[in-house]
Amino acid sequence: MMQMITLASRPDGAPQPENFKLESAEVPTPGAGEVLIKVHTFSLDPYMRGRMSDAKSYAAPVPIGGTMEAGGVGEVLSSKDPGFQPGDMVLGMTGWATHASLPGNTLRKLPDGLRPSLALGVLGMPGFTGWHGLNAIGQPKPGETLVVAAATGPVGSMVGQLAKAAGLRAVGIAGGPDKCKLAQEKFGFDACLDHRDFADPASMRTALAAKVPDGIDIYFENVGGKVLEAVVPLMNPHGRIPLCGTIAWYNDATPGALTLPQLWRSTLVKFLHIQGFIITNHWHQLPEFLKAVAPKIASGEIAYLEDVAQGLEAAPAAFMGLLEGRNTGKQVVQIV
Ligand code: NDP
Repeated sequence: MMQMITLASRPDGAPQPENFKLESAEVPTPGAGEVLIKVHTFSLDPYMRGRMSDAKSYAAPVPIGGTMEAGGVGEVLSSKDPGFQPGDMVLGMTGWATHASLPGNTLRKLPDGLRPSLALGVLGMPGFTGWHGLNAIGQPKPGETLVVAAATGPVGSMVGQLAKAAGLRAVGIAGGPDKCKLAQEKFGFDACLDHRDFADPASMRTALAAKVPDGIDIYFENVGGKVLEAVVPLMNPHGRIPLCGTIAWYNDATPGALTLPQLWRSTLVKFLHIQGFIITNHWHQLPEFLKAVAPKIASGEIAYLEDVAQGLEAAPAAFMGLLEGRNTGKQVVQIV
């Protein structure tokens, strides 16, 4: 038998334990072209909050009763695709589950010697997101200043480290003094602000202004909310905003005090370049990312941090924690 976590009901606001259900089923028999995988570790990511909702989006929602979606890594148990053998370690969309039978053409073999869970974080979708958003949209130049929130997470920590390596001043924003310390000591940010220290965007903006004496050239947008409101008026002319995520609003779409006219006015008079992106539209660049970044992971030049929840049943609480900033580093769930 296998186990999986399914979507029991759609959340209204923050997800609750009753929105998830632990279920059992027969381990599937792989059909033609399919590969049966025993999942070792799967990823928890902010986008999964969107899949729990049936609001119109860029991707289909998880149906009620469906297995929660996730990328995972695991071992091939049996294969009806000649490209895979039992024992191979692979990456695929396994879901929150102990086993998955997936078409071989959707799987990627993991190289020997790589800690498999890295393919879910620093060398996977989130790391690639930071690399792509920073380079393709942020267009970093030495001497510029970058700000990114969720600075110790897999996207933000990649952005900060790449920005530092490119000769920028990098200012992080994170939740709590411990994460701010990590941002500076482990990931090399020049400064870090704890967003929890500020009740409103105006006081945060004053503190942030002191950390960015030359203004902000790139705001890598990971969170929206109060941070966005604090940052936008500090942008320099011709600043760039890779619009990657708005996690502060995933549970609650209430806009903050920065009105749409104010936001639009700043965009106009500062000639801002704001570009949204969804990383799944850029997979063709993955080999380029891996070529550029994998050696830097191996040499220790780029640091990473994982937060490992143990056991399938721990996934809902870990996911709810991720949305509230209780994770420190890339959140994964280890089953094996
Ligand atoms: P993280 O692992 O960093 O986890 C999310 C973090 O967001 C939390 O730990 C918390 O960090 C921070 N956070 C939560 N609520 C708030 C809030 N109200 N204000 C400020 N910060 C908050 O996530 P990822 O690195 O995986 O993802 C970062 C962002 O990138 C997300 O918005 C995600 O949706 C987006 N993304 C977009 C992709 C795309 O294709 N466009 C692909 C991948 C990710 P802290 O405690 O430090 O505040």
